[in-house]
Amino acid sequence: MDKKVDIVIVGAGLTGLTTGYYLNKAGKQVLIVDKLDRWGGVIQTHKENGFLYENGPNTGVLSDVIMEDLFEEIQDEECQIELADTKKANKRYVVKNGKFVALPTGPFGGLITPLFSWRDKFLGIPLEPFRPRGKNPEETLAELVKRRMGKSMLDYAIDPFILGVYAGDPNQLIPKYALPKLYNLEQEYGSFIGGAVKKMIATKRKGERSPSRKIFSFKGGLQKMTDGIAKKIGDENFLLGLENITVNKADCGYSLTGVKAGEKVTVEANKVITACGGYALKSLLPFVNETDMTNLSNAHYTKVIEVQLGFNKWNGRELDGFGGLCPFVENRDILGILFMSATQTERAPEGGALLTVFMGGMRRQDLMEKSDKEVKEIVAREVSELMEMPDFKPDMIKIHRYEHAIPQYGLESKIRFETIEKLEQEYEGLILGGNFCGGIGMSKRVVQGYEIAEKIIYS
Ligand SMILES: Cc1cc2nc3c(=O)[nH]c(=O)nc-3n(C[C@H](O)[C@H](O)[C@H](O)COP(=O)(O)OP(=O)(O)OC[C@H]3O[C@@H](n4cnc5c(N)ncnc54)[C@H](O)[C@@H]3O)c2cc1C
Repeated sequence: MDKKVDIVIVGAGLTGLTTGYYLNKAGKQVLIVDKLDRWGGVIQTHKENGFLYENGPNTGVLSDVIMEDLFEEIQDEECQIELADTKKANKRYVVKNGKFVALPTGPFGGLITPLFSWRDKFLGIPLEPFRPRGKNPEETLAELVKRRMGKSMLDYAIDPFILGVYAGDPNQLIPKYALPKLYNLEQEYGSFIGGAVKKMIATKRKGERSPSRKIFSFKGGLQKMTDGIAKKIGDENFLLGLENITVNKADCGYSLTGVKAGEKVTVEANKVITACGGYALKSLLPFVNETDMTNLSNAHYTKVIEVQLGFNKWNGRELDGFGGLCPFVENRDILGILFMSATQTERAPEGGALLTVFMGGMRRQDLMEKSDKEVKEIVAREVSELMEMPDFKPDMIKIHRYEHAIPQYGLESKIRFETIEKLEQEYEGLILGGNFCGGIGMSKRVVQGYEIAEKIIYS
């Protein structure tokens, strides 16, 4: 089978889908290819015996207006955003001394919480706006937070936050790459707290729209979102289940080959956009020299286990929040628990509950070796204790392992980002996207898709 298109996108996850959506909307001819026989990448929703659960992300944050606009554009009867109950979504727990403690939401709460030390409550946090700017762009997140706010803030606020987002280690993440907004607050305004306030005022003054930052999923699960985007692109613009894909330089620009159902497929294209993980690029782009490829694919993807627990009748603590995270210093065997049925509808039968448990991450890769039986034992021990359950008898338990869950943005990111720029200049028509650059959250994926499309549309 031979095909000729203007633009081919490799990877039908959220990055590839949004890139394809905006290009297609602008009238460009695109073909999205994937080795899997479905779109969505890590996003996949399942329904079983009254439980609705996700593989991959469970919810996202509306942290960019581009994402809000996209959801407006794709919505129809089948595809409807579902916002989490704000009061519950804002209530988050962190484990301290074996118990869930609510994270403070305001200054008064910050003063009385047992999570932070007296020193940090009365000196570390209040004096943050007056501390000098950091001078080392390669400072780790742990060093930055300790320097500006104190160790207990690192241990019981930032460390669990980073577990929840990156399943990562603040001692390895570099804020300039991993949390550029936070890094820039210090660099531009000299303070996180003062900078955030000044930035908010400046945005209002300029009359710029700011995102709602609400927690979202979709009615029927996140796959409704990826299905909705794919529907707008049109089935005819996908080539799924294409295995052993390689891309080579050709007269037309690029020639992509792969195998579908035993048959060789060749696609000629003027432009190629990669929207798959960095780990896939070596076999995909054989024309890139070894040094550049080493630098390009240097992102370390942490492994994660996601366990979905369904209970027909809930018998544990009140599910009055978004969930709880376990700081590394607490030495537990899980990263955290999301109270999915508390913030989203249809997740469990009436009176029941759906919990999502994460294990592994950068500092507990040892757990990836555990068998399903051992994972179940760990989950039973940890969840029954933290959720105060007299007995632990889930009616559904699903275990999903991710070999390449979340890329970490450490020191090596600098050379990776530089190499992306270099290769895009060197090879006309090649664009390198995916979550190893531009951020890991779903909103960042949508923004990257939008920006790649804009670059092509206006080039
Ligand atoms: C367990 C987990 C929990 C998460 N939780 C959240 C969360 O709560 N909130 C949030 O905002 N984000 C979360 N994320 C992150 C977010 O889901 C991802 O960053 C985002 O969905 C990635 O989209 P993507 O398209 O870049 O990559 P992917 O979804 O990985 O898609 C890449 C696609 O490329 C294809 N591909 C790979 N190699 C090849 C190849 N050689 N040839 C052809 N195709 C190939 C794959 O099959 C896949 O379809 C989570 C991620 C994981 C794994």
